[in-house]
Amino acid sequence: MISEAMEDADRVLVDLGNRSYDILIGDRLVDRAGKEIAERFPGARAAIVSDETVASLYLEQLRNSLASAGVDSAAIIMPPGEKTKSFEHLMTVVDEILAARLERRDIVIALGGGVIGDLTGFAAGVVRRGMHFVQIPTTLLAQVDSSVGGKTGINSARGKNLIGVFHQPALVLADTSVLDTLSAREFRAGYAETAKYGLIDQPEFFAWLEGNWKDVFAGGEARRRAIATSCRAKAAVVAADERESGARALLNLGHTFGHALEAAVGYDSSRLVHGEGVAIGMVLAHQFSVRLNLASVDDARRVEAHLADVGLPTRLSDIPGDLPPPDRLLEHIAQDKKVERGRLTFILTKGVGQSFVAKDVPASEVELFLKEKYG
Ligand code: NAD
Ligand code: MG
Repeated sequence: MISEAMEDADRVLVDLGNRSYDILIGDRLVDRAGKEIAERFPGARAAIVSDETVASLYLEQLRNSLASAGVDSAAIIMPPGEKTKSFEHLMTVVDEILAARLERRDIVIALGGGVIGDLTGFAAGVVRRGMHFVQIPTTLLAQVDSSVGGKTGINSARGKNLIGVFHQPALVLADTSVLDTLSAREFRAGYAETAKYGLIDQPEFFAWLEGNWKDVFAGGEARRRAIATSCRAKAAVVAADERESGARALLNLGHTFGHALEAAVGYDSSRLVHGEGVAIGMVLAHQFSVRLNLASVDDARRVEAHLADVGLPTRLSDIPGDLPPPDRLLEHIAQDKKVERGRLTFILTKGVGQSFVAKDVPASEVELFLKEKYG
């Protein structure tokens, strides 16, 4: 991956042949969006999709930046929250893009978190059989994860993210300063995904985070470095396995347990948001690996200590309210990961930064482990 200092922004290339694109990471990139977009799409018009919260903070800034670069824009504003990833809202976005008379050479911009990015990318992927798409992610989770890689979509009553398309963006602008207005809880949730890249295969990045996480939370250079390192990691995985047939599965470290916990609380975000589920899930994945004699107790403790330090939940008992019994949790796991002859695919680890895909994990082992965890 190419990454170089560019003026005051880092640049990471997502290398996908003729669908390659840049991720720029730096302060106040919203102000530079007009220039970056006008350079890449001369003469294009834009539809900006955002949610009410983000629009009230950054829409005017973005439209001014576009206008000063000669890019005419329309705004499409959705309610905030996961429920916005629905057919109903997709229809509204699609209709408003068409009503704004955007043509195929024009661009659709997502200004918001993962919800807006997923919904907007899907709309951009299907309107006129595919329009140019620009991501301006405004949550840490969206900057380090959802805005990169081209997975887009909405939820079904039958499950999350079941309807969608792969549609790569043509540009990602991660403005690190917009994260200043993000709630501490949402920032921590995104941080769990940042730490995940260290735990997958970059022990030195995890060690750096252990020493520098306070600066990452504070903003400035350390934050930019953490986001750029995360984007580089995700970009490499996506370039190697765009459509998730193999290596991309490593990105699911902590997600099997995490998803089961999210489902177990009925996706009630007052109890658990995705990144929090991933934090607990990563700790469980390390502890489960210890139980299988793959990793050391010290490594599992180290992971838990760091995530707890930053204020993330790390134990089942950190989730407010009652959890369903372990066998219910196992049912969620079995639903999430197709179980074949009592065996499931799991991301396990030999220690910090040494994760691997295990295809043959006995469901019975998972069940025994969970029963132990419930105490
Ligand atoms: P989100 O988009 O709901 O944003 C969280 C909250 O923060 C919202 O209320 C939003 O209005 C607010 N917000 C956003 N930016 C802000 C800012 N700068 N200042 C103040 N408030 C701000 O949630 P998210 O965590 O960003 O994304 C979660 C979604 O991402 C889920 O739907 C998940 O499925 C999806 N996701 C997709 C991928 C992918 O590869 N496509 C990967 C991971 C997650
Ligand atoms: Mg995730």
